[in-house]
Amino acid sequence: MAQGSAKIRIARAEPLGHGARLLRIERADGAELGFAGGQYVIINTGVTLPGGKLAKRAYSLLSSDAEQRAVEIAVKRIGAGPGSNVLNDIAVGAELEWSGPWGKLRLPPGFSGRALAIATDTGITAALGVARSAAAAGAAQLDLLWLVESAEGYFLSERFVRERLPASVRLTVAGDFLPVGHPERPARACALVDQHLQHLSPAPYDAVLCAGDGAVIYPLRDRLTSLGAPEGSVLLESFFNNPLKKSA
Ligand SMILES: Cc1cc2nc3c(=O)[nH]c(=O)nc-3n(C[C@H](O)[C@H](O)[C@H](O)COP(=O)(O)OP(=O)(O)OC[C@H]3O[C@@H](n4cnc5c(N)ncnc54)[C@H](O)[C@@H]3O)c2cc1C
Repeated sequence: MAQGSAKIRIARAEPLGHGARLLRIERADGAELGFAGGQYVIINTGVTLPGGKLAKRAYSLLSSDAEQRAVEIAVKRIGAGPGSNVLNDIAVGAELEWSGPWGKLRLPPGFSGRALAIATDTGITAALGVARSAAAAGAAQLDLLWLVESAEGYFLSERFVRERLPASVRLTVAGDFLPVGHPERPARACALVDQHLQHLSPAPYDAVLCAGDGAVIYPLRDRLTSLGAPEGSVLLESFFNNPLKKSA
């Protein structure tokens, strides 16, 4: 499980809708990645940013952690963003530097309780990684709530997600969520989570794992805590709009 910094090779690439790509990547030295579902890698895209720094970008592994040599990421093209454009255009066979695996968004080994994964937007990759992990296989219950502006054409389709989820995972898609940046997003997300929880007993989950828009998942954690979620039971992975970073 050692963290590594080496080269990865793009082993396969396929388009996902209009503006995204599914990439199969392997370590160039053939070694295992040693990741747990929910974790991410950082890829050095090789692009030098105006300030002179290299554009290194994080991508969550959406494939099952049962397979450690060939893993999958999905990259949505974000405007003229340097990292996502390189990865949407790069040739199969190309090699890039990477580091990882990183991240604490994961179920503990041997987890046997009830878990809820909440994803907004592209955060669905991390939620898929969690849901497909070896640790999730022992969970008594795993629910996945995906908040997304449109489940079709945005990034991964609902069908793509459903085909990859274990049959025991219950997926709920709120496919008419407000767009990124909308001021009502956090309040709407809290209302959707309240709705999801209302027919369940108090504090029904032993673990809640949230990934995606930082402007949404931090308020969600506050909401869940106010509803009685135990300290430390709500884990966050902010993909963008991270309130802890000056510019995210
Ligand atoms: C832990 C982690 C895991 C991630 N996993 C994935 C993943 O699996 N798939 C994926 O496509 N991206 C993922 N991202 C986002 C990714 O790292 C890059 O931020 C993204 O590809 C844009 O990079 P860029 O260089 O093209 O654009 P940049 O110039 O870096 O980004 C432009 C702006 O867009 C923001 N942004 C990033 N993603 C979105 C989004 N979905 N909607 C709106 N704004 C956004 C950035 O924060 C930035 O403010 C992840 C980020 C983190 C921190």
